[in-house]
Parts: sequence; C-alpha cells; structure tokens
Amino acid sequence: MVNFDEEMPKMKCSLCGGELKEKIISYEVHFKEKPYNFVDVQALVCESYGDISFSSAMVKEMGRTIEGKGKPYNY
Ligand SMILES: [Zn+2]
Repeated sequence: MVNFDEEMPKMKCSLCGGELKEKIISYEVHFKEKPYNFVDVQALVCESYGDISFSSAMVKEMGRTIEGKGKPYNY
C-alpha cells in the first residue's frame, strides 16, 4: 500500500519561524567582487519578514553558474 497523504513538509523560516513560500524572483549575488544577476530563480521567501532563502539544489545551480558559464555584468 502506498500512502499518498505524505505531502511536502511545510518549510519554515530559519530566522523567524514564519512560513516559506516558493516564489520566482530576481536575485543579485556578489562573488569575488563581481555581481551576478540571477533572473527568475526559484526562492523561498518568508511570509513574515521577506527573508529570502534557496533550496540546496538552487544554491548548487547558482554556484555552478558563477564558477562556469555565468556571465558577469559588463560595465
Ligand atoms: Zn523569516
């Protein structure tokens, strides 16, 4: 028997305990003094205070972009 009741556990903000909602946002990261602009990334945004966090998969993806294919801004 398979139990279908098991849903994604609700994620809580590690800072304030508020509920986290998945949102698509734009996010700028500074790495080695270069800004990297991530557009339409999936983030977890705290309902209470607007804290932004990312899933580990997303963090990995962003790290890969920064290290490799990512293009820093050209000024
Ligand atoms: Zn919070």
